[in-house]
Amino acid sequence: MNEMLKRKSLRFWIALGMLVALAPLTTSAGLGYLILSRGVIAPVHDVAFRQKDQIIPIQRLQLLIWNTMTPVDEYIADGNPLHREAFRSFRAQIETGFAELLDAVNTDATTQAVMRRARESWTTADTLATRLISAPNELANPRRIEAMERFHGEIVATSDKLQAAYAKLAGEIQQDHDIAVLTYERSIWIAGIAGAVSLLAIFCGVFVIGRIIGGSVDRLVEGAALFAKGEREHRIDVQVPPELRRVADEFNLMIGRIRESEDALAALAHLDSLTGLYNRRAFEHALSEAWARFERYGEPCCLLAIDIDHFKRVNDTYGHAAGDDVLQAISKVMIQTKRRFDQAFRIGGEEFTIILRRTDRATARAIAERLRRAVEFAQIGVNGNTIEVTVSIGVSEASDDLDAKRVVEHADAALYQAKSNGRNCVAISSNSDASDQNAA
Ligand code: GH3
Ligand code: MG
Ligand code: MG
Repeated sequence: MNEMLKRKSLRFWIALGMLVALAPLTTSAGLGYLILSRGVIAPVHDVAFRQKDQIIPIQRLQLLIWNTMTPVDEYIADGNPLHREAFRSFRAQIETGFAELLDAVNTDATTQAVMRRARESWTTADTLATRLISAPNELANPRRIEAMERFHGEIVATSDKLQAAYAKLAGEIQQDHDIAVLTYERSIWIAGIAGAVSLLAIFCGVFVIGRIIGGSVDRLVEGAALFAKGEREHRIDVQVPPELRRVADEFNLMIGRIRESEDALAALAHLDSLTGLYNRRAFEHALSEAWARFERYGEPCCLLAIDIDHFKRVNDTYGHAAGDDVLQAISKVMIQTKRRFDQAFRIGGEEFTIILRRTDRATARAIAERLRRAVEFAQIGVNGNTIEVTVSIGVSEASDDLDAKRVVEHADAALYQAKSNGRNCVAISSNSDASDQNAA
């Protein structure tokens, strides 16, 4: 992933995911509104307008025109002057009807022309009718009969012209209706396609977020689970988004620190707090390791059991704190005298052990002797006093007929022997050559 994208924040990825998911939906909603308003709502609105202001008035006007024949015909038949009033009332309504219709079709020159021709026919019919109802009633007059026939003819002509205008307007309404239906059907298709595209985009959005954030969160959770199981080497690798990368970095730092603390604690658990030597727990661990190497590789191994002579007297004479200082001083002497790869342990109050790996009995005895002498000649200064102490040392050697525990017992027995021999001396375990005993 390129560097610029790696720096993008969590907010950025969520916003991008939502944009990808919602953009097609909002676009299709906007387009749908435009298509519906222009292709469906406007034509339907137009149809309703024409129906109300053109179609119905034309039909009404046609009816009025036909109605004018009744008062005229009846006047000719009975000469009643009341029929004149009825005709005039129709005429007033017809005049208003024509005026309103011409106004309603003023954007359509062709229809307007047809309407004007209808009005001209009506004007002729009106002139004939006015003349017929103004004159006295003479049924047998052939000129009146002819005028009446002409009046009827003009009424039919007016109605035909209005019918032509009606047919034209009805055709246009049908066209508007067809467009509205077609657009509606298309808009259903478009809505379906837009819905499908939106769904696809939502999946893409979820995929983008899932890929970018889900993977990182999974690695964080997995790292935390491994940490909970005790795994301390695992490090969480999260690069994006930066917020989660920071969480992972902090988590890795924390694991590093915890591991350091655990290592330090583990080391402390194997160290003696007073002298800094390894303690009894470390001794048991080291002994079983040395024993394993002896058994597997036949690697010779010896053990020194060391005990300070009459140490109680030191405490009694100089105090317990001074006794502690002496224990520390003797530990230093041991560390300086032993070989670099030998391990020294404080396994009890004033008792120590040294494991000598790859060491035969003769060398072990020499090392024990060197140590005994080093302690004997050490001048330990405590609170202005110089304290001199000695140690007794028992030596035992690993052999096939002994197990590790028995080798320790043999070293202790040799130490007991050294004490019996007068202290400040080295004794070799009885499982070793008797000629080496009482060497000091
Ligand atoms: P031996 O030559 O027979 O070993 O005589 P000892 O006096 O050294 O042996 P004993 O077992 O009688 O006494 C050991 C003394 O070591 C008793 C105890 O007060 C002392 N001691 C043990 N641990 C400590 C310690 O941590 N600090 C101090 N100052 N004294 C300790
Ligand atoms: Mg002791
Ligand atoms: Mg002692």
